[in-house]
Amino acid sequence: MAPTHYDVIIIGAGMSGLAAAIRLAYFERKVLVLERHYAAGGLNSYYALGGYQFDVGLHAMTNYVPPGTRGAPLTKLCRQLRLRPEDFALVPQYQSEIRFPGIMLRFNNDFECFIQEVIEHFPAQKDNFLRLVRCIRDYDELDLEAKPISGRQVVSSYLTDPLLIDMLFCPLMIYGNAAERDMEFGQFVVMFKSIFCEGLARPREGVRRIINVLRRKVREVGGTVRMKCGVKALHVKDGRARSVELDNGEALTADTILSSAGYVETLRLCDDCEPEPLAPLAGRLSFVEIISILDAPLKHLGHDTTIVFYNTAKAFHYEVPKDLVDPRSGVICCPDNFLYDKPLPKSMIRMTCLANFDGWSGLPEAEYVAAKAEWLPRIHREVLQFVPDFRDRIVFTDFFTPRTIKQWTGHLNGAVYGMPGKIKTGRTHLENLFICGNDQGFLGIVGAMLSGISMANLHVLKK
Ligand SMILES: Cc1cc2nc3c(=O)[nH]c(=O)nc-3n(C[C@H](O)[C@H](O)[C@H](O)COP(=O)(O)OP(=O)(O)OC[C@H]3O[C@@H](n4cnc5c(N)ncnc54)[C@H](O)[C@@H]3O)c2cc1C
Repeated sequence: MAPTHYDVIIIGAGMSGLAAAIRLAYFERKVLVLERHYAAGGLNSYYALGGYQFDVGLHAMTNYVPPGTRGAPLTKLCRQLRLRPEDFALVPQYQSEIRFPGIMLRFNNDFECFIQEVIEHFPAQKDNFLRLVRCIRDYDELDLEAKPISGRQVVSSYLTDPLLIDMLFCPLMIYGNAAERDMEFGQFVVMFKSIFCEGLARPREGVRRIINVLRRKVREVGGTVRMKCGVKALHVKDGRARSVELDNGEALTADTILSSAGYVETLRLCDDCEPEPLAPLAGRLSFVEIISILDAPLKHLGHDTTIVFYNTAKAFHYEVPKDLVDPRSGVICCPDNFLYDKPLPKSMIRMTCLANFDGWSGLPEAEYVAAKAEWLPRIHREVLQFVPDFRDRIVFTDFFTPRTIKQWTGHLNGAVYGMPGKIKTGRTHLENLFICGNDQGFLGIVGAMLSGISMANLHVLKK
Protein backbone atom coordinates (compact mmCIF):
# COMPACT_ATOMS: atom_id res chain seq x y z
CA MET A 1 0.00 0.00 0.00
CA ALA A 2 1.35 3.48 -0.89
CA PRO A 3 2.19 5.69 2.12
CA THR A 4 -0.43 8.33 2.97
CA HIS A 5 0.50 11.62 1.30
CA TYR A 6 0.07 15.12 2.76
CA ASP A 7 0.65 18.58 1.37
CA VAL A 8 2.55 19.44 4.54
CA ILE A 9 3.82 17.37 7.47
CA ILE A 10 4.75 19.37 10.56
CA ILE A 11 7.10 17.88 13.14
CA GLY A 12 6.12 18.94 16.66
CA ALA A 13 2.89 20.14 18.30
CA GLY A 14 4.52 23.04 20.16
CA MET A 15 3.42 26.64 19.67
CA SER A 16 5.10 27.05 16.27
CA GLY A 17 3.91 23.72 14.85
CA LEU A 18 0.29 24.26 15.90
CA ALA A 19 0.24 27.83 14.57
CA ALA A 20 1.70 26.71 11.22
CA ALA A 21 -0.90 23.94 11.01
CA ILE A 22 -3.79 26.37 11.52
CA ARG A 23 -2.48 28.73 8.87
CA LEU A 24 -1.97 25.96 6.29
CA ALA A 25 -5.19 24.04 6.97
CA TYR A 26 -7.13 27.30 6.75
CA PHE A 27 -5.86 27.61 3.18
CA GLU A 28 -7.00 24.06 2.49
CA ARG A 29 -3.66 22.34 2.59
CA LYS A 30 -3.84 18.73 3.77
CA VAL A 31 -1.79 19.06 6.98
CA LEU A 32 -0.60 16.54 9.54
CA VAL A 33 1.16 17.44 12.80
CA LEU A 34 3.29 14.67 14.34
CA GLU A 35 4.10 14.92 18.05
CA ARG A 36 6.23 12.43 19.94
CA HIS A 37 4.64 13.07 23.34
CA TYR A 38 1.15 12.60 24.72
CA ALA A 39 0.77 16.29 25.58
CA ALA A 40 1.04 19.18 23.13
CA GLY A 41 2.95 22.39 23.88
CA GLY A 42 6.60 21.23 23.79
CA LEU A 43 8.74 23.66 25.81
CA ASN A 44 5.53 25.21 27.05
CA SER A 45 3.44 22.18 27.82
CA TYR A 46 1.77 21.18 31.10
CA TYR A 47 1.74 18.24 33.49
CA ALA A 48 0.26 16.97 36.74
CA LEU A 49 2.34 15.91 39.74
CA GLY A 50 1.45 15.19 43.36
CA GLY A 51 -2.16 16.08 42.59
CA TYR A 52 -1.23 19.57 41.34
CA GLN A 53 -1.28 21.07 37.85
CA PHE A 54 1.90 22.67 36.49
CA ASP A 55 2.89 24.57 33.38
CA VAL A 56 6.32 23.63 32.05
CA GLY A 57 7.29 27.04 30.88
CA LEU A 58 4.70 29.71 31.33
CA HIS A 59 5.85 32.60 33.44
CA ALA A 60 4.16 35.16 31.26
CA MET A 61 3.23 35.65 27.67
CA THR A 62 5.26 38.54 26.25
CA ASN A 63 3.98 41.01 23.60
CA TYR A 64 0.79 41.75 25.52
CA VAL A 65 -1.25 44.63 24.14
CA PRO A 66 -4.83 45.48 25.13
CA PRO A 67 -7.50 44.13 22.74
CA GLY A 68 -8.07 46.52 19.84
CA THR A 69 -4.40 47.63 19.57
CA ARG A 70 -3.56 47.80 15.89
CA GLY A 71 -0.36 46.59 14.22
CA ALA A 72 1.17 44.81 17.25
CA PRO A 73 2.64 41.28 16.88
CA LEU A 74 -0.12 39.76 19.05
CA THR A 75 -2.82 41.42 16.94
CA LYS A 76 -1.17 40.27 13.69
CA LEU A 77 -0.79 36.76 15.05
CA CYS A 78 -4.47 36.57 15.95
CA ARG A 79 -5.50 37.92 12.55
CA GLN A 80 -3.36 35.35 10.74
CA LEU A 81 -4.83 32.52 12.84
CA ARG A 82 -8.40 33.85 12.65
CA LEU A 83 -8.47 34.08 16.44
CA ARG A 84 -9.50 36.95 18.69
CA PRO A 85 -6.97 38.14 21.32
CA GLU A 86 -9.80 37.56 23.83
CA ASP A 87 -9.66 33.82 23.00
CA PHE A 88 -6.42 33.60 25.02
CA ALA A 89 -8.13 35.31 28.00
CA LEU A 90 -4.92 37.18 28.82
CA VAL A 91 -4.69 38.99 32.15
CA PRO A 92 -2.05 41.75 32.36
CA GLN A 93 0.75 41.75 34.92
CA TYR A 94 0.63 44.02 37.96
CA GLN A 95 4.27 45.13 38.05
CA SER A 96 7.70 43.58 37.56
CA GLU A 97 11.19 44.48 38.72
CA ILE A 98 14.82 44.24 37.64
CA ARG A 99 16.86 43.96 40.85
CA PHE A 100 20.64 44.38 41.02
CA PRO A 101 22.69 45.04 44.17
CA GLY A 102 21.38 48.28 45.67
CA ILE A 103 19.13 49.24 42.75
CA MET A 104 15.75 48.35 41.29
CA LEU A 105 14.02 49.29 38.02
CA ARG A 106 10.25 48.71 37.98
CA PHE A 107 8.19 48.15 34.84
CA ASN A 108 4.60 47.36 33.98
CA ASN A 109 2.70 47.29 30.69
CA ASP A 110 2.99 51.07 30.27
CA PHE A 111 6.32 51.71 28.55
CA GLU A 112 6.33 55.41 29.49
CA CYS A 113 6.60 54.38 33.17
CA PHE A 114 9.72 52.36 32.38
CA ILE A 115 11.29 55.31 30.54
CA GLN A 116 10.66 57.51 33.60
CA GLU A 117 12.06 54.82 35.89
CA VAL A 118 15.31 54.61 33.88
CA ILE A 119 15.63 58.41 33.79
CA GLU A 120 15.04 58.67 37.55
CA HIS A 121 17.71 56.09 38.43
CA PHE A 122 20.18 56.95 35.66
CA PRO A 123 19.69 60.72 35.08
CA ALA A 124 23.06 61.06 33.31
CA GLN A 125 21.91 58.47 30.73
CA LYS A 126 18.63 60.21 29.89
CA ASP A 127 19.47 61.45 26.38
CA ASN A 128 21.44 58.31 25.53
CA PHE A 129 18.57 56.07 26.62
CA LEU A 130 16.00 58.07 24.66
CA ARG A 131 18.21 57.82 21.56
CA LEU A 132 18.51 54.06 22.09
CA VAL A 133 14.72 53.79 22.36
CA ARG A 134 14.35 55.70 19.06
CA CYS A 135 16.86 53.35 17.42
CA ILE A 136 14.94 50.32 18.74
CA ARG A 137 11.62 51.71 17.51
CA ASP A 138 13.04 52.34 14.02
CA TYR A 139 14.78 48.96 13.70
CA ASP A 140 13.16 46.41 11.36
CA GLU A 141 13.54 43.19 13.31
CA LEU A 142 11.48 41.28 10.74
CA ASP A 143 14.11 41.63 8.00
CA LEU A 144 15.00 37.96 7.41
CA GLU A 145 18.15 38.90 5.47
CA ALA A 146 19.59 41.25 8.16
CA LYS A 147 23.24 40.52 9.09
CA PRO A 148 23.71 39.59 12.77
CA ILE A 149 25.39 42.32 14.84
CA SER A 150 26.45 42.36 18.48
CA GLY A 151 23.75 43.74 20.77
CA ARG A 152 26.29 44.67 23.44
CA GLN A 153 28.28 46.66 20.89
CA VAL A 154 25.26 48.58 19.60
CA VAL A 155 23.79 49.25 23.05
CA SER A 156 27.22 50.38 24.34
CA SER A 157 27.43 52.85 21.49
CA TYR A 158 24.39 54.59 23.05
CA LEU A 159 24.70 53.93 26.81
CA THR A 160 27.87 54.54 28.81
CA ASP A 161 26.80 53.14 32.20
CA PRO A 162 27.65 49.40 32.38
CA LEU A 163 25.13 48.89 35.21
CA LEU A 164 22.22 50.16 33.12
CA ILE A 165 23.41 48.07 30.17
CA ASP A 166 23.47 44.92 32.32
CA MET A 167 20.08 45.75 33.86
CA LEU A 168 18.54 45.99 30.39
CA PHE A 169 20.18 42.82 29.10
CA CYS A 170 19.28 40.72 32.17
CA PRO A 171 15.53 40.20 31.53
CA LEU A 172 15.91 40.23 27.75
CA MET A 173 18.58 37.53 27.77
CA ILE A 174 16.91 35.32 30.37
CA TYR A 175 13.61 35.49 28.47
CA GLY A 176 14.98 34.98 24.99
CA ASN A 177 18.64 34.62 24.15
CA ALA A 178 20.32 31.50 22.80
CA ALA A 179 23.89 32.86 22.85
CA GLU A 180 26.24 33.16 25.80
CA ARG A 181 27.37 36.60 27.00
CA ASP A 182 26.14 38.64 24.03
CA MET A 183 22.82 38.93 22.23
CA GLU A 184 22.27 39.58 18.54
CA PHE A 185 20.96 43.16 18.23
CA GLY A 186 17.86 42.15 16.23
CA GLN A 187 16.97 39.72 19.02
CA PHE A 188 17.62 42.44 21.63
CA VAL A 189 15.13 44.65 19.76
CA VAL A 190 12.52 41.85 19.55
CA MET A 191 12.78 41.17 23.28
CA PHE A 192 12.94 44.86 24.28
CA LYS A 193 9.75 45.58 22.35
CA SER A 194 7.97 42.43 23.53
CA ILE A 195 8.74 42.91 27.25
CA PHE A 196 9.15 46.66 27.81
CA CYS A 197 7.26 48.39 24.96
CA GLU A 198 4.40 45.87 24.89
CA GLY A 199 4.13 43.85 28.08
CA LEU A 200 3.44 40.71 30.05
CA ALA A 201 0.20 38.82 30.61
CA ARG A 202 -1.04 35.36 31.49
CA PRO A 203 -4.25 33.41 30.99
CA ARG A 204 -5.82 32.62 34.37
CA GLU A 205 -5.88 28.91 33.40
CA GLY A 206 -2.20 29.00 32.42
CA VAL A 207 -0.74 27.58 29.24
CA ARG A 208 -3.54 25.00 28.85
CA ARG A 209 -5.75 27.82 27.66
CA ILE A 210 -3.36 28.75 24.85
CA ILE A 211 -2.78 25.15 23.78
CA ASN A 212 -6.47 24.27 23.87
CA VAL A 213 -7.34 27.31 21.74
CA LEU A 214 -4.72 26.31 19.16
CA ARG A 215 -5.66 22.62 19.10
CA ARG A 216 -9.37 23.39 18.76
CA LYS A 217 -8.61 25.73 15.87
CA VAL A 218 -6.45 23.13 14.09
CA ARG A 219 -9.41 20.73 14.25
CA GLU A 220 -11.94 23.35 13.13
CA VAL A 221 -9.96 24.23 10.00
CA GLY A 222 -9.42 20.58 9.05
CA GLY A 223 -5.84 19.85 10.19
CA THR A 224 -4.86 16.61 11.93
CA VAL A 225 -2.63 16.19 14.99
CA ARG A 226 -1.26 12.75 15.86
CA MET A 227 0.07 12.46 19.41
CA LYS A 228 2.55 9.82 20.63
CA CYS A 229 3.74 9.72 17.05
CA GLY A 230 7.42 10.59 16.82
CA VAL A 231 9.40 11.03 13.61
CA LYS A 232 12.29 8.58 13.57
CA ALA A 233 13.88 9.48 10.22
CA LEU A 234 13.57 11.56 7.09
CA HIS A 235 14.61 9.61 4.01
CA VAL A 236 16.39 11.76 1.46
CA LYS A 237 16.84 11.37 -2.29
CA ASP A 238 18.01 13.90 -4.88
CA GLY A 239 18.00 16.82 -2.45
CA ARG A 240 14.44 16.21 -1.19
CA ALA A 241 12.94 14.52 1.84
CA ARG A 242 11.11 11.68 0.09
CA SER A 243 9.46 10.02 3.07
CA VAL A 244 8.92 10.36 6.79
CA GLU A 245 9.48 7.29 8.94
CA LEU A 246 7.65 7.21 12.27
CA ASP A 247 8.81 5.58 15.52
CA ASN A 248 6.23 2.83 14.89
CA GLY A 249 7.74 2.05 11.46
CA GLU A 250 4.93 3.66 9.46
CA ALA A 251 5.95 5.67 6.36
CA LEU A 252 4.31 8.91 5.18
CA THR A 253 5.07 11.32 2.35
CA ALA A 254 4.60 15.07 1.96
CA ASP A 255 5.35 17.82 -0.56
CA THR A 256 6.76 19.98 2.25
CA ILE A 257 8.03 19.23 5.74
CA LEU A 258 8.13 21.92 8.40
CA SER A 259 10.01 20.97 11.55
CA SER A 260 9.92 22.62 14.97
CA ALA A 261 12.20 19.97 16.50
CA GLY A 262 15.24 22.29 16.18
CA TYR A 263 17.69 22.74 13.30
CA VAL A 264 20.38 20.29 14.40
CA GLU A 265 17.77 17.88 15.78
CA THR A 266 15.95 17.94 12.42
CA LEU A 267 19.10 17.45 10.34
CA ARG A 268 19.99 14.50 12.53
CA LEU A 269 16.74 12.87 11.40
CA CYS A 270 17.86 13.10 7.74
CA ASP A 271 19.55 9.93 6.53
CA ASP A 272 22.02 11.96 4.42
CA CYS A 273 23.48 13.86 7.44
CA GLU A 274 26.31 12.84 9.74
CA PRO A 275 25.27 13.68 13.31
CA GLU A 276 28.74 14.41 14.77
CA PRO A 277 29.76 17.54 12.77
CA LEU A 278 26.36 19.10 13.57
CA ALA A 279 26.66 18.79 17.36
CA PRO A 280 28.71 22.00 17.99
CA LEU A 281 25.98 24.11 16.35
CA ALA A 282 23.41 23.20 19.00
CA GLY A 283 22.50 25.65 21.77
CA ARG A 284 23.78 25.12 25.30
CA LEU A 285 21.81 27.50 27.48
CA SER A 286 19.39 25.79 29.78
CA PHE A 287 17.77 26.33 33.14
CA VAL A 288 16.54 24.68 36.30
CA GLU A 289 13.01 25.56 37.28
CA ILE A 290 11.59 25.19 40.78
CA ILE A 291 7.85 25.45 41.17
CA SER A 292 6.41 25.49 44.69
CA ILE A 293 2.72 25.30 45.54
CA LEU A 294 1.98 27.57 48.52
CA ASP A 295 -0.87 27.46 51.02
CA ALA A 296 -1.41 31.23 50.61
CA PRO A 297 -0.61 33.82 47.94
CA LEU A 298 2.68 35.72 48.36
CA LYS A 299 0.55 38.86 48.35
CA HIS A 300 -0.51 37.87 51.89
CA LEU A 301 3.16 38.10 52.87
CA GLY A 302 3.40 41.54 51.29
CA HIS A 303 4.83 40.61 47.86
CA ASP A 304 2.67 41.76 44.96
CA THR A 305 5.33 41.89 42.23
CA THR A 306 4.59 39.73 39.19
CA ILE A 307 8.13 38.91 38.06
CA VAL A 308 11.53 39.74 39.55
CA PHE A 309 14.58 39.48 37.26
CA TYR A 310 17.48 39.50 39.69
CA ASN A 311 21.24 39.54 39.74
CA THR A 312 23.31 39.47 42.94
CA ALA A 313 26.79 39.45 41.37
CA LYS A 314 28.93 42.50 40.53
CA ALA A 315 28.20 42.03 36.83
CA PHE A 316 25.50 40.00 35.08
CA HIS A 317 26.79 36.67 33.72
CA TYR A 318 24.72 34.95 31.04
CA GLU A 319 26.63 31.78 30.25
CA VAL A 320 26.58 28.05 30.92
CA PRO A 321 27.51 27.78 34.61
CA LYS A 322 30.61 25.81 35.58
CA ASP A 323 28.65 24.37 38.50
CA LEU A 324 25.27 22.62 38.14
CA VAL A 325 23.41 25.91 38.69
CA ASP A 326 24.27 29.60 38.74
CA PRO A 327 21.89 31.00 41.38
CA ARG A 328 23.44 34.49 41.21
CA SER A 329 20.88 35.56 38.63
CA GLY A 330 17.46 34.34 37.65
CA VAL A 331 13.73 34.92 37.58
CA ILE A 332 11.15 34.77 40.35
CA CYS A 333 7.63 34.59 38.99
CA CYS A 334 4.43 34.78 41.04
CA PRO A 335 1.58 33.57 38.82
CA ASP A 336 -0.84 34.92 41.47
CA ASN A 337 0.28 38.49 40.86
CA PHE A 338 -1.51 39.18 37.59
CA LEU A 339 -4.59 41.40 37.65
CA TYR A 340 -7.22 38.59 37.79
CA ASP A 341 -10.75 39.33 38.87
CA LYS A 342 -10.60 36.41 41.34
CA PRO A 343 -7.63 34.60 42.94
CA LEU A 344 -6.04 31.49 41.41
CA PRO A 345 -7.25 28.20 42.92
CA LYS A 346 -3.64 27.34 43.91
CA SER A 347 -0.92 29.82 44.81
CA MET A 348 2.58 29.23 43.56
CA ILE A 349 6.04 30.66 43.06
CA ARG A 350 8.42 29.78 40.20
CA MET A 351 12.19 30.25 40.35
CA THR A 352 14.46 29.88 37.32
CA CYS A 353 18.28 29.87 37.14
CA LEU A 354 20.87 29.06 34.49
CA ALA A 355 22.02 25.44 34.66
CA ASN A 356 24.58 23.10 33.16
CA PHE A 357 23.11 20.31 31.00
CA ASP A 358 26.25 18.14 30.96
CA GLY A 359 26.52 18.30 34.74
CA TRP A 360 22.91 17.30 35.38
CA SER A 361 22.77 14.59 32.72
CA GLY A 362 26.02 12.99 33.86
CA LEU A 363 24.66 12.28 37.36
CA PRO A 364 23.50 8.78 38.33
CA GLU A 365 19.89 8.79 39.59
CA ALA A 366 20.66 8.88 43.35
CA GLU A 367 23.13 11.76 42.91
CA TYR A 368 20.70 13.57 40.63
CA VAL A 369 18.05 13.51 43.36
CA ALA A 370 20.63 14.52 45.98
CA ALA A 371 21.84 17.41 43.81
CA LYS A 372 18.32 18.82 43.63
CA ALA A 373 18.06 18.62 47.42
CA GLU A 374 21.42 20.39 47.74
CA TRP A 375 20.63 23.20 45.27
CA LEU A 376 17.13 24.02 46.50
CA PRO A 377 18.29 25.84 49.69
CA ARG A 378 21.12 27.53 47.77
CA ILE A 379 18.64 28.96 45.27
CA HIS A 380 16.27 29.94 48.10
CA ARG A 381 19.11 31.84 49.78
CA GLU A 382 19.50 34.10 46.71
CA VAL A 383 15.79 34.42 45.98
CA LEU A 384 14.93 35.36 49.58
CA GLN A 385 16.81 38.63 49.08
CA PHE A 386 13.89 39.70 46.86
CA VAL A 387 10.77 38.00 48.23
CA PRO A 388 9.50 37.46 51.78
CA ASP A 389 10.39 34.11 53.35
CA PHE A 390 7.73 31.75 51.99
CA ARG A 391 9.37 28.45 52.92
CA ASP A 392 6.95 27.46 55.68
CA ARG A 393 4.02 28.05 53.27
CA ILE A 394 5.25 25.41 50.77
CA VAL A 395 2.96 22.40 50.37
CA PHE A 396 4.62 20.79 47.33
CA THR A 397 7.67 21.45 45.15
CA ASP A 398 8.68 20.26 41.72
CA PHE A 399 12.25 20.85 40.55
CA PHE A 400 13.12 20.19 36.92
CA THR A 401 16.47 20.42 35.20
CA PRO A 402 17.99 20.63 31.69
CA ARG A 403 17.88 16.83 31.66
CA THR A 404 14.09 16.91 32.06
CA ILE A 405 13.79 19.48 29.27
CA LYS A 406 15.81 17.28 26.89
CA GLN A 407 13.78 14.23 27.84
CA TRP A 408 10.41 15.87 27.13
CA THR A 409 11.18 18.04 24.12
CA GLY A 410 14.12 16.32 22.43
CA HIS A 411 16.06 19.62 22.36
CA LEU A 412 19.79 18.86 22.50
CA ASN A 413 21.45 20.03 25.73
CA GLY A 414 17.98 20.93 27.03
CA ALA A 415 18.56 24.23 25.20
CA VAL A 416 15.52 26.37 25.92
CA TYR A 417 16.19 28.95 23.19
CA GLY A 418 17.77 26.65 20.63
CA MET A 419 20.99 27.33 18.73
CA PRO A 420 22.81 30.70 18.79
CA GLY A 421 23.11 30.99 14.98
CA LYS A 422 19.49 31.35 13.91
CA ILE A 423 18.30 30.26 10.44
CA LYS A 424 16.01 33.20 9.77
CA THR A 425 14.92 31.99 6.32
CA GLY A 426 14.03 28.57 7.76
CA ARG A 427 15.86 26.87 4.86
CA THR A 428 17.80 23.63 5.17
CA HIS A 429 19.97 21.71 2.69
CA LEU A 430 16.81 20.02 1.36
CA GLU A 431 14.51 21.91 -0.98
CA ASN A 432 11.30 20.73 0.73
CA LEU A 433 12.43 20.73 4.40
CA PHE A 434 12.15 23.91 6.48
CA ILE A 435 12.42 24.72 10.15
CA CYS A 436 10.17 26.86 12.31
CA GLY A 437 10.15 27.83 16.00
CA ASN A 438 13.11 28.56 18.25
CA ASP A 439 15.89 27.91 15.73
CA GLN A 440 14.27 30.03 13.04
CA GLY A 441 14.80 32.94 15.38
CA PHE A 442 11.52 34.02 16.97
CA LEU A 443 11.49 32.96 20.62
CA GLY A 444 8.91 32.59 23.35
CA ILE A 445 5.26 31.69 22.98
CA VAL A 446 4.27 34.57 20.72
CA GLY A 447 7.57 34.40 18.83
CA ALA A 448 7.19 30.67 18.18
CA MET A 449 3.63 31.11 16.89
CA LEU A 450 4.75 33.97 14.62
CA SER A 451 7.59 31.80 13.37
CA GLY A 452 5.19 28.96 12.47
CA ILE A 453 2.93 31.41 10.65
CA SER A 454 5.70 33.17 8.76
CA MET A 455 7.43 29.96 7.66
CA ALA A 456 4.07 28.51 6.52
CA ASN A 457 3.40 31.70 4.56
CA LEU A 458 6.89 31.94 3.05
CA HIS A 459 7.56 28.32 2.11
CA VAL A 460 4.09 26.98 1.34
CA LEU A 461 1.40 29.60 0.80
CA LYS A 462 3.45 32.17 -1.14
CA LYS A 463 5.21 29.61 -3.33
C1 LIG B 1 11.26 26.55 31.68
C2 LIG B 1 10.79 27.40 30.53
C3 LIG B 1 10.19 28.62 30.77
C4 LIG B 1 9.72 29.38 29.69
N1 LIG B 1 9.03 30.53 29.96
C5 LIG B 1 8.47 31.22 28.96
C6 LIG B 1 7.61 32.32 29.23
O1 LIG B 1 7.34 32.65 30.37
N2 LIG B 1 7.11 33.02 28.19
C7 LIG B 1 7.37 32.67 26.89
O2 LIG B 1 6.86 33.34 25.98
N3 LIG B 1 8.16 31.62 26.60
C8 LIG B 1 8.71 30.88 27.60
N4 LIG B 1 9.49 29.79 27.32
C9 LIG B 1 9.93 29.57 25.92
C10 LIG B 1 8.83 29.00 25.04
O3 LIG B 1 8.24 27.94 25.73
C11 LIG B 1 9.44 28.49 23.73
O4 LIG B 1 10.18 29.52 23.11
C12 LIG B 1 8.36 28.03 22.74
O5 LIG B 1 7.39 27.28 23.39
C13 LIG B 1 9.04 27.23 21.64
O6 LIG B 1 8.08 26.64 20.80
P1 LIG B 1 8.52 25.81 19.53
O7 LIG B 1 7.29 25.46 18.81
O8 LIG B 1 9.56 26.56 18.79
O9 LIG B 1 9.28 24.52 20.05
P2 LIG B 1 8.89 23.35 21.06
O10 LIG B 1 7.99 23.86 22.10
O11 LIG B 1 10.15 22.75 21.49
O12 LIG B 1 8.08 22.32 20.17
C14 LIG B 1 8.71 21.30 19.45
C15 LIG B 1 7.88 20.04 19.57
O13 LIG B 1 8.44 19.06 18.70
C16 LIG B 1 8.34 17.80 19.32
N5 LIG B 1 9.33 16.92 18.70
C17 LIG B 1 10.68 17.03 18.75
N6 LIG B 1 11.26 16.06 18.02
C18 LIG B 1 10.25 15.33 17.49
C19 LIG B 1 10.21 14.20 16.63
N7 LIG B 1 11.32 13.61 16.16
N8 LIG B 1 8.99 13.70 16.28
C20 LIG B 1 7.84 14.28 16.73
N9 LIG B 1 7.84 15.35 17.55
C21 LIG B 1 9.02 15.87 17.92
C22 LIG B 1 8.63 18.09 20.79
O14 LIG B 1 8.13 17.05 21.62
C23 LIG B 1 7.89 19.42 20.97
O15 LIG B 1 6.56 19.21 21.39
C24 LIG B 1 9.93 28.97 28.36
C25 LIG B 1 10.53 27.73 28.12
C26 LIG B 1 10.94 26.94 29.19
C27 LIG B 1 11.53 25.58 28.91
